[in-house]
Amino acid sequence: MLVGIDLGTTNSAVALWKDGAPQLVPNALGKELTPSAVSLAKGGQAWVGQAALDRMATHPADTVTSFKRMIGTATTVTLAGTTLTPEDLSAMVLRSLADDVEAATGERPTQAVITVPAYFNERQRRATRRAGEIAGLEVKRLINEPTAAALAFGLTDRGDREPFLVFDLGGGTFDVSIVEMFDGIVEVRASAGDNRLGGDDFDAALVKLVEPLLDNRTVLDTLPADRRRALLNLAAERTRRALSTAEEAEFSIVVEGEPLTARVSSDAFEEAAASLVKRLRDPVIRALRDCHIDVKSLSDIVLVGGATRMPVVRKALTRMFGRFPNATVHPDHAVALGAAIQAGLLSGGAGLEEIRITDVAPFTLGVGTATRDAHGRFHDDIFAPIIERNTPVPVSRMERFQTLADNQRQVTFAIYQGEARDVKKNVKLGELTVPVPPRPAGEVAVDVRFTYDTSGLLDVDVSVPVSGTTRNLVIVDEEDRRTQKDVAESRKRLEKLKVHPRDEAENVAMLARAERAYEGFTGTARDIIGQALTEFQGALEKQDPRIIADAREGLGRLLDEIDAHSPL
Ligand code: AMP
Repeated sequence: MLVGIDLGTTNSAVALWKDGAPQLVPNALGKELTPSAVSLAKGGQAWVGQAALDRMATHPADTVTSFKRMIGTATTVTLAGTTLTPEDLSAMVLRSLADDVEAATGERPTQAVITVPAYFNERQRRATRRAGEIAGLEVKRLINEPTAAALAFGLTDRGDREPFLVFDLGGGTFDVSIVEMFDGIVEVRASAGDNRLGGDDFDAALVKLVEPLLDNRTVLDTLPADRRRALLNLAAERTRRALSTAEEAEFSIVVEGEPLTARVSSDAFEEAAASLVKRLRDPVIRALRDCHIDVKSLSDIVLVGGATRMPVVRKALTRMFGRFPNATVHPDHAVALGAAIQAGLLSGGAGLEEIRITDVAPFTLGVGTATRDAHGRFHDDIFAPIIERNTPVPVSRMERFQTLADNQRQVTFAIYQGEARDVKKNVKLGELTVPVPPRPAGEVAVDVRFTYDTSGLLDVDVSVPVSGTTRNLVIVDEEDRRTQKDVAESRKRLEKLKVHPRDEAENVAMLARAERAYEGFTGTARDIIGQALTEFQGALEKQDPRIIADAREGLGRLLDEIDAHSPL
């Protein structure tokens, strides 16, 4: 079975193509979004999703979120003594989504379409594929998130050629893409973004606003710094969500039994978030400039990502574009639904016309060259772009270079990806050397042709017209050679972890939530939660599903009540 997966920075979701429409699959807690969070304990116990996120407040050092930001890098994370790569962590989320599909349909998915940000480079794309493989999913295709959104919003059926803008503000990242369709071809014309801007930053701005307003705030100093931050951020997120539907909301936490509260108005929040809102403009302008499209020619502004639900963001957009954005599809679901439509297309889903999808090169590819300035001085390591970013793929481009020294015997081209003029700041992909006949400087021309295809392979041809010598290099990332070994090692590593079985997910999540509440209180409230926890644990030991369900509901009601008075 082929499924569509939105592997997000904050939340992930899985959807299927079923009965002629994309359908989201709920997780074990009945939710369509699964937090991209992982938490471990000594002995290899593992939590994924909401339970992991709840453990963030109580076990911040053993819990990790936003690991999508690290994918494709050599960074590793050590949680409770176990070291994991970003791929391993992503694989744990993917596996949990696959479990959900299996529970819903009785069939284990074996293949997936996974979405990635349009700006992801080769390394990040390969790492995402690898995460799929570790999770036991053959990745049939990676598609760009804005392309998936376009499919979900039905913009692909419109038949006009007007470009539209996909505005995607998630929990931790911000992506802008300009998408166009022509003759059934979806083309991401340009993408830009800020991978350090999202709902989390709005939480931080809210914390900054309310912290000085809290009475008794010295009690906060008794908390370790990471716990303090986790508590404040969690409370800020709740307040921020409340402000999406109300003019005023209460920020409230309990520390050592001490309630700390403050009222926040949407105006005050808007003011506190002003500098973040300003940062939304830049990527929009950059994307429009890259594809030479002006705001007026955009037919639609499509909203994706949970943080676009903030009125402060919608207001800013309306001002920026002079019209209301399109939010006809749930902004949190659009990408997963689009991935499922793509899955439907790949498996020949009835009722879907063939749509081809064209993407653009997400970064510039070129070579390092040397030049002489007007004073004859030699400058090494200057980037000479050959395929510029946002060029539709597949593409083939050639540039001609000349020898620089008299009687030079060979020319070496180092191949880079990136945007910096100084090649040292770009990513080196490989190197190619070609012999040249000895002649005075500047007399021998060397042609470099780059061919970049849809699967992301770069083919480099270098030829010397005067001698007819040619050299060719197909760039396969260093990383790729290690891939198979890595996947096997990762699988072994993950096998050692004891992820809670799916049928226990509700209990596990309830325990994590209750423990979070327990730690937030002292005195009577703590006793009450403690007693309820003991009772629930007793019910779990009885292993009678009915008794467990009753106890869980009871504990849930108690925690809801406590939350209503003092959201932790
Ligand atoms: P995503 O990465 O697309 O799942 O978006 C997650 C972000 O959306 C988080 O920062 C959430 O706080 C935010 N979010 C979700 N729902 C709302 C809402 N109703 N109001 C404000 N922010 C929201």
